[in-house]
This record gives sequence, structure tokens and C-alpha cells, in this order.
Amino acid sequence: MAATDVIAEAREYEKTWPGELCKGGGKRQSPIDIQTNDVVKDFEKLFIKNGSLKFIGYNRVLMTGVNNGHTIQLSTDGNEDMHPRVSGGPLKHSYRLEQLHFHWLSEHSINGIKYPMEIHFVHIRTDLKVAEALRRKDGLAIVAVFCNVQAELTDEQRESTEELMQYIPRLMSVGDSFSGLLLDLNKLLSPEKESYYTYLGSLTSPQCNEAVVWIILDKPIYITDAQYRLFGKVGIGRHNFRSLQPSRQRQVFVPPDSFLTTPRIIVVVVDTFNVVREFFRNVTRYIADSFS
Ligand SMILES: [Zn+2]
Repeated sequence: MAATDVIAEAREYEKTWPGELCKGGGKRQSPIDIQTNDVVKDFEKLFIKNGSLKFIGYNRVLMTGVNNGHTIQLSTDGNEDMHPRVSGGPLKHSYRLEQLHFHWLSEHSINGIKYPMEIHFVHIRTDLKVAEALRRKDGLAIVAVFCNVQAELTDEQRESTEELMQYIPRLMSVGDSFSGLLLDLNKLLSPEKESYYTYLGSLTSPQCNEAVVWIILDKPIYITDAQYRLFGKVGIGRHNFRSLQPSRQRQVFVPPDSFLTTPRIIVVVVDTFNVVREFFRNVTRYIADSFS
């Protein structure tokens, strides 16, 4: 199975989704391809009006993990007042973390290149209930973190993901779940939280509500090849990314002090291309064999 087949398969699957917004009727759908030459460094505070991003309470988070057949999702437990919060940057309000989940391959792409994985930290405006947040243009804030794959990790790279990855083997079958995980989510975010892309978009699954302020951290975290292969065996065994949506002249902003240097991006692209090619050779073959 080649990469183009997998993307065609994603498009075919999306035709079964309900609602106009999911079927091309929207104006600010996600995910999109981000062209780094077109992003606006927001010196004039056109969009990034609220200083630096602030992540509060991410260091000790009580969560429940579940395999729901589409992804592995970790939801925050306990009193909403105790949930981690994000504010600042493009966010006018404070947002509480509800859950995080995984997409493989990544949903967003940078200059047409996808990462092997993207993690979404889904936050709801603290002053709104979920149902109301889904109707507002800025009801949700989703922080996205790209995940890259290497055969061997440095100590620093391993440190950022091993705490979470140790639980993934316990969530391999649909319906698997367990509670009481105490995680330091700071480690998962990214080593550089002030280097990000931000734009107005939508949920990437039904009902595709156009209610999301996207914050996409620019620097990836890392997992091993062996860990990545586990995700290929989760649940229904298909990729779980939505296909790219038209950008429709939407502006993507970056903080004025972010360093989106070309050499770094080239390094990432070369790595990712090889990793993804490897992925399709190995994991996808596994999936095809297991489910055909
Ligand atoms: Zn997602």
C-alpha cells in the first residue's frame, strides 16, 4: 500500500461522515497544509494578542486512558477546577484540558510533509459547557504536538515520551481502558512552547464544528520505531487522520520571536520522509495482512 492509497482511503472513509461542515460545506475546516513561506510573523499583534502561552497545572495530571477503536484517548479525571489550563498567545480566554489523543499519520502538514504522528490536547473554554463551546468561534483550543520517529532516542528525547508510552501496550484492544494514570504532560508538549503556528479552524472529526483555535507546536517530540509500530496495531487498524482541507486564504500566524529556521525544517523533512516510507513498507503491510 503506497502513501497515496492511504490518503485516498481516508477521503473515501470521510464520505460516510454526517453533516454539511464535514462534507466540504465549511469555511474554516481543519487540518490544513501550512506553507512556512506564507505564515505571518505577528509583530503587530493581529492574532497573537495575549503575550506568551501559559500552560498551568500540566505537571501532575490524573487521567483515564481508553482505546475507542479510532484512537487512544486520555481524558482528565476529577473536578474540572483541577484540570490543567492553557491561556495567552492567541487565546483571549482560559481553556481547560479535557482529553488528549493521537493521530497517525499527522493531520496537519508543513510544506506538504506529514509527520508520523500528531497528538491533540483538546481544551474547552473554562467559562463554557462543552455543548456551548462547540457553537462558539473560539470555544475550543487544541494544542497539537508533532511526533517524530527514530530507531534510537537520546536520553532527553526518551525522557519526554517514555512515561506515556509505557501505558500504550495496555491499550491495544478496542474497549481497553484503565484509570489512575498520573502524568507529567509538560514533558509531552515540546521543548519549545513559544514556537508555534496558530490559526482558526475546526474539529477534524464529526461534526467538524468550526470552533477551534489551533496552536501547533513547531518542534516535534520523539518516539522509537518500535513504539510507533504499536499504534499501527491499535483498534481497527487503519490510519486515523482526516484529509487536508482547503485553506481558503486563511492566515496562519507565528509569534514574532519564533525561529522557524529553514535548515531545521529541511532536516526534519528528510527524516520524516524516510520514516514515513519505512512506515508504509512495514506497519502498513502488517495492517493489510492482518485485516484482509
Ligand atoms: Zn484530533
